[in-house]
Amino acid sequence: MKKRILLVNPHIEDFAAYDHFSKPLGLLRLAAYLKPCFDLHFIDAMNRTHPGLTGMKFRENGTGHFYKTVIPKPGQLSDIPRRFKRYGLPDDLFRDRLRDTPFRPDYIFVTSVMTYWYTGVLHTIGLIREEFGDTPVVLGGIYPSLMPEHSKRTIPADFIIPHQRLDSVLSDIGKIIGTEFSAEEYRSPEYEMTGEFAYAPVYTSLGCVFACAYCASNLLGSFVQFPPERVADNILRLRNMYGVRHFAFYDDALLVNSGNHLDRILEALIGAGFDGRFYTPNGMHIRLLTQRTARLMKECGFTDIRLSLESSDPRFHNTQDTKATNSEFEYAMGILHEAGFRRENIHVYTLVNIPGQDAAGADDTMRYIFANGAVPRLAFYSPIPGTPDFRLAEKITPLDDPLFHNNSVYIYRSGFDPEYLARLKEMEVGFRRSAEAES
Ligand code: SF4
Repeated sequence: MKKRILLVNPHIEDFAAYDHFSKPLGLLRLAAYLKPCFDLHFIDAMNRTHPGLTGMKFRENGTGHFYKTVIPKPGQLSDIPRRFKRYGLPDDLFRDRLRDTPFRPDYIFVTSVMTYWYTGVLHTIGLIREEFGDTPVVLGGIYPSLMPEHSKRTIPADFIIPHQRLDSVLSDIGKIIGTEFSAEEYRSPEYEMTGEFAYAPVYTSLGCVFACAYCASNLLGSFVQFPPERVADNILRLRNMYGVRHFAFYDDALLVNSGNHLDRILEALIGAGFDGRFYTPNGMHIRLLTQRTARLMKECGFTDIRLSLESSDPRFHNTQDTKATNSEFEYAMGILHEAGFRRENIHVYTLVNIPGQDAAGADDTMRYIFANGAVPRLAFYSPIPGTPDFRLAEKITPLDDPLFHNNSVYIYRSGFDPEYLARLKEMEVGFRRSAEAES
C-alpha cells in the first residue's frame, strides 16, 4: 500500500495580510513529485472559499481579504500600536478539515513562508498535533531555509527541511521516508489539489539573476527557467479544464532571456486562442522589457503589470541594486504605452525604509512614477536574514526574534517618521484615485 501524506498550508499571524494571488505554489510543485509514490491530501488553512466562512468578498480576479480573528499580540510586540490577527480558517473549521482527511496520514508536511509568520505555523501544528499526535510532522518552506536553527528550536516538528532547491528537498524527504525521487524533469504544480480555480499561480522560472542587497532570492537557489512549451501547456490546461481565467506569475525574473522564454510562452498561448488575464505581483525587471515582449503581453491579456523601480534616486541604485536607471524606466514606460497599456495597468513599486536610505525621497519617487504614466505602489522594507541589508538593519534595531523582521514592526522601531509615513500612504491613495478617474 502507498504511504499517505497530508500537505498543509498553515495560518498566518500578522498585523495585516491580504490574498493578492497568494497560494503555496512551492508545496503544490512538491506534490507533483510526491504524487506518483504517495496518496496525498491537501488542507489549506488560508482557504477563503470554505462554505463555513461568512462575509468573504472576492474581487473579479479572485483576490480579497482573508478571514481573520483578532488575537493577543505576542509579548515581544507589545509596543507596536496595532491589532494582531490570525488569518485563515477558524480553529473549529480547520479541525473539521483535519477530521475529514480521507486517511490516517503517515507523514504531515507543513510549508511556511515569511520568517515572521512562524507563530502561525506553531498554531497550525498545535491543531494538527491534537488530531494526529503520533504522526511525524515535516516542516519546509522559506522560514526554515533562512532560519534553520531558529525553526529547529521553536517549531515542534519531527523533521526540518532547510532548503528550497527541489533536488535537496527531495533528497531530504527521500531519507526521511526511505524513497528515491528524481527532480530532473519539469512537472506542473498539482494545482487541482486546492479545489479553487478563481485564479491560479504559475511560474516559468525560479530564482533571480540579480543580487539586490535587500532580497534573499538568490540565497534560496540558483536561477532556472522551465521549458516554455510545458509552461504554456500547463496554463492552457488550467484554462480549458478548470475554467481558470486569472493567472499570476510568481517569477522573480520573468523577463530574463525573454526572446527565448516568455515570448515563446505568450506566442504559444496566443496561437491556442488563450483568452485569460495575467498579473505580475512580484514586479518585473524594467531593464529587460523589450518592445516585442510588451506587444505580446498586451495581446495575451496582461492586466496588472508590476514593475520594480524602488527609487528614482540614482544613489539608491549605486548601493542597493543595479536593476534599473531612470532612463531605462522612462524607456520601458514608453514601450508599454506604445503597446496599448494605460496607466491603470502599470503599477510601479517604491521601496521604503531600506537601512541608510534617504527616507525623504520616497514622495519624489512616487511623483516621478506618476509623471511617467504609471501608478506608484509603496512597498515597505522587511529585513531578511542572510542579506547584506539585514546586517545593517540589525544595527538599527534588534532582529533576533523573527517577529521583528515584520515590516510593520521594523518601520515602527527603526524610527521612521509616522507623519511622513501617513503622508506617503495618503499620496498612494491619491495617485490611485487619480488613475481610476482617468480610466
Ligand atoms: S531583482 Fe528582485 S528578485 Fe532579483 S534579487 Fe533583486 S529584488 Fe530580488
